[in-house]
Amino acid sequence: MESKKRDECCPADKPENAGNPINFKFRLECSLKTSADATIAADIVGAYIDEANQTILTKGAPEGQGAKVTAWNVEGDRINLTFESGRHVRVHDALLRMRKPLAAKLGKDYKIGVRGIEVRSYTIEVPAEKELPKMKIPYVAEMTYENGNIRLVLDVDEAAMSNRVPDRILSLMEDKLEQQTYGGKTEHWNVLWQSEKKEHTFSDDPTKAMVEAGWIKRGASRGQWIHGPQSTKMFRTFEKIVLDELLEPLGYREMIFPKLVPWEVWQKSGHAKGVYPEIYYVCPPKTRDPEFWEEVIDHYKVTLEVPTSLIKEKIGDPIGGMCYAQCPPFWTYLQGETVPTDEFPIKVFDRSGTSHRYESGGIHGMERVDEFHRIEIVWVGTKDQVIKVANELHDRYMHIFNEILELEWRKAWVTPWFMAQEGLTGVAEQTEAGTTDYEAVLPYRGEGAEWLEFQNVSVNGNKYPSGFNVKCQSGEELWSGCSGVGLERWASAFFAQKGLDPANWPEEFRKRVGEVPRGIRFL
Ligand code: ATP
Ligand code: ZN
Ligand code: MG
Repeated sequence: MESKKRDECCPADKPENAGNPINFKFRLECSLKTSADATIAADIVGAYIDEANQTILTKGAPEGQGAKVTAWNVEGDRINLTFESGRHVRVHDALLRMRKPLAAKLGKDYKIGVRGIEVRSYTIEVPAEKELPKMKIPYVAEMTYENGNIRLVLDVDEAAMSNRVPDRILSLMEDKLEQQTYGGKTEHWNVLWQSEKKEHTFSDDPTKAMVEAGWIKRGASRGQWIHGPQSTKMFRTFEKIVLDELLEPLGYREMIFPKLVPWEVWQKSGHAKGVYPEIYYVCPPKTRDPEFWEEVIDHYKVTLEVPTSLIKEKIGDPIGGMCYAQCPPFWTYLQGETVPTDEFPIKVFDRSGTSHRYESGGIHGMERVDEFHRIEIVWVGTKDQVIKVANELHDRYMHIFNEILELEWRKAWVTPWFMAQEGLTGVAEQTEAGTTDYEAVLPYRGEGAEWLEFQNVSVNGNKYPSGFNVKCQSGEELWSGCSGVGLERWASAFFAQKGLDPANWPEEFRKRVGEVPRGIRFL
């Protein structure tokens, strides 16, 4: 098996990350501004710092790895402090831990108040094998590489430090260094189940065959197809199979999820952390006043060209994007609610509209398109319920792919989609949470070539209930799962293995399709 973006490593295989975290060095030079000359209080300040270095600045850190005030003095109405630390109690934490108790002492003994914090310099040093490419990170004024160390100069004030900005910069650096070491998006992949090898009656590219048979035509937009009556019948048959064999018997209820997804949904679902390169963005007009648009309208009428740069000036910032993963906008329905215990497991599905992704290159066929159709199945309940529901789905799918579609396929345990879409790799931290991909061989690509993921089943842990603040009346932790049945992918897998001639289709499928409708003819 060959795979282009995957390898079989997982976090446990990465020695650098196993109990030996990256050795960050933090250094902060700052001043506490006082309401009056604090020179007279120097002794108290000194005594307090000695005490803090032994106590509150080490609390929670392994022996000898706390933060330390390594230099200090009092200069008029400024107490100058230099902090150094590793990753445990970070310098800004150390400062914030000290500020109140020190202010209390100065207030009590000398009636001197602390008016604010002035940061003179905040640096983070990280050992790294190589320089990182040039990049812009908020609050990072400078990034240099010297003697095997990346050195960041932060431009942070008191508010940014209280908001934990340096902590997030640290996590970001860890992600980038890990990507550098492990070659970016290496995904976990581990086969779980595989059908027997099959003889295939077909070895052409199914998209090409469907075009030639007049089943589909390219749409006007990138990676988009128009499905003629024949292809549409196939999609509806796939849907009917899922409805009859899986959704109905297992008691799922149909819902209609929104298809325009605002940022706040992706902030809660985690997609805001990484999905930008694949989004189709949505921008509303700045106003619907026809006068405001008259120039655009007139331009078009005279030139017959749509003035896109003029339009750009007249539309607002993107408010979000078009449906990407299908389930995140559902969660607004449950958001902030406490649900009676006996509602669980909640089992629903949506098939109300298209999903859109700006895919890279290779969108020649129907396997990878920018606009696709998917049934999204979502379930919510306690951990045990969610795992049980996932297993029931796996069983029904097994029946469909073995007895109705008779595919050559396999299942693999992969990097969960919710991690991959945040740009993360490896496997889920929560045991038992994760994604199972369903893959089919495409005979026209050759046996050894990459198989096609045609759907997945994911147990997403507590990620969604916690991101959208959904509670169970009993107080028990809620988990959720989702499964995306990609109709273009089912079609690609099925027709790649069976071809378009009904005579070569499994009886169970042929029976469900009935007559293949007549297409539209052209001269
Ligand atoms: P791939 O690795 O093939 O790009 P993915 O990991 O991005 O797939 P998911 O994000 O897990 O896919 O999406 C769930 C399902 O949605 C897939 O199993 C597939 O059926 C469908 N899907 C995703 N992207 C596309 C696409 N560009 N064209 C058609 N179907 C898609
Ligand atoms: Zn989903
Ligand atoms: Mg993808």
